[in-house]
Amino acid sequence: MVKFPSSVLSRLKRSLRGIEVISDPAFLTAYRFDATGRRGRCRAVIFPVNREEFSRAAAGCMAMDMPVVTRGAGTGFSGGSVPVEDSVIISTERMNRVLSFNRLNEQVQVEAGLVNGKLQQFLEGEGFFYPPDPASFRVSTIGGNIAENAGGPRAYRYGVTRRYVRELEWVMPDGEFCRSGPEGIGALITGSEGTLGMIYSAVLSVLPVPESRLTFLLEGGTDREAMDLASELLGLGFRPSVFEFIDSKTIQCVAEYLGLEELISGRASLFFEVEGTGIETLEQKGIIDGFCDLKGMKLVSAEKENRREHLWELRRSISPSLARRGITKINEDIALPLGRLSEAVGLIHRMAAERWLDCYIFGHCGDGNLHVNVMTDRRKKEEMARTADFVDALFRYVAGAGGTLSGEHGIGVTKRDYLDLVFSEEELELQEGIKKAMDGESRLNPGKYFDGITGGGSK
Ligand SMILES: Cc1cc2nc3c(=O)[nH]c(=O)nc-3n(C[C@H](O)[C@H](O)[C@H](O)COP(=O)(O)OP(=O)(O)OC[C@H]3O[C@@H](n4cnc5c(N)ncnc54)[C@H](O)[C@@H]3O)c2cc1C
Repeated sequence: MVKFPSSVLSRLKRSLRGIEVISDPAFLTAYRFDATGRRGRCRAVIFPVNREEFSRAAAGCMAMDMPVVTRGAGTGFSGGSVPVEDSVIISTERMNRVLSFNRLNEQVQVEAGLVNGKLQQFLEGEGFFYPPDPASFRVSTIGGNIAENAGGPRAYRYGVTRRYVRELEWVMPDGEFCRSGPEGIGALITGSEGTLGMIYSAVLSVLPVPESRLTFLLEGGTDREAMDLASELLGLGFRPSVFEFIDSKTIQCVAEYLGLEELISGRASLFFEVEGTGIETLEQKGIIDGFCDLKGMKLVSAEKENRREHLWELRRSISPSLARRGITKINEDIALPLGRLSEAVGLIHRMAAERWLDCYIFGHCGDGNLHVNVMTDRRKKEEMARTADFVDALFRYVAGAGGTLSGEHGIGVTKRDYLDLVFSEEELELQEGIKKAMDGESRLNPGKYFDGITGGGSK
């Protein structure tokens, strides 16, 4: 790792006069992590508050050859915003405005640091919503969502972030601004994890809030039975907008966390939402009610806003509830072809059990995206070695089954060494060429995706 001298930092601060730059080591601690718990190293955090400061910050770092990590809220699950090299962080936190809203065009323009949940609040007041809804929406930023091409429960019906990006404005390593729509170079920026450009603002498509929404929790049985029930339901014409799977171990964990005695039987469950006009949602309710009556299965339905929120709280409590089962959470968000999901859950649990690991599986199963969580302890070397062996076996299984390493969390540091499992040599070379064209000096977020391609990884 190249370490730059303190005199360079002092020069940077002078050149950015008027912009807040913090280099106090105690303060920096909070910026060395993301949700993976991995720790990096950074020398300063810059807090631009507008477009002009953002550009000056980028140009200032580049002029001094300092690697830069753009950071939103740091909720990433692949180490994307963890500064691997001796770096400077440019935080988008204070660039968090809604710049314009156009009801007729159904679009909103926002700065990158706006928190997804704040955007949703703003839009609700206008009778609209923004479909991408990562479970971290109360904290994660629109810039981070775009950089990771975030998904979420609603992705089953609405698709992921890319579909809603109409235009992006970003800063190139030299501080120059670029602007492009999804048919241009902007398409490369979405999902590029801060390695090709630093997003300043985005024009996003939004949709009118549907007339009616109903939320359901269906108690399934064993993990496999729950998966099979889902296929049966879809075969009957059930068309949810949200379609989530929660395995039996996870539901038990959430039930204990929230003190929900009635769920402690620990049956794998399916979490659904339907939406549309009042008549459409009632039709859908009819299908699922009839199905559950026939099978004698327990269904919890929620129509009123506060009841729906209660069910959503259960879904959103999965992550905090798991935190009680281990100090370190290894969370892999694999995606598989739908036909493989049912076999995959059992197989993955067996792979974990063979290595004496405590594994929990849930996720956006409607679009094939399963979150495989191992609750472990970073301080126990031998257990971590077994976990690494499990992750290796998991990725090899996924690649062999025609799946992808990440449904939504990105490659970052955690998966960079596995890219050759899912991309051919030609594809990797092409991607490397794009990086060279856009960031020839490799100043943007070094040590991530592209170091997997060039062999900078540690596998
Ligand atoms: C409890 C929990 C639940 C989650 N649920 C989901 C989920 O349902 N769906 C999902 O997709 N993800 C989920 N995530 C992962 C994470 O929240 C998303 O990846 C999110 O998009 C990251 O946003 P952020 O603002 O925290 O970005 P950060 O973590 O700060 O950064 C993530 C990456 O984006 C880059 N980046 C950030 N801002 C910019 C910018 N302005 N320009 C260029 N690059 C930038 C960073 O360099 C980094 O590579 C979850 C995380 C947690 C902790």
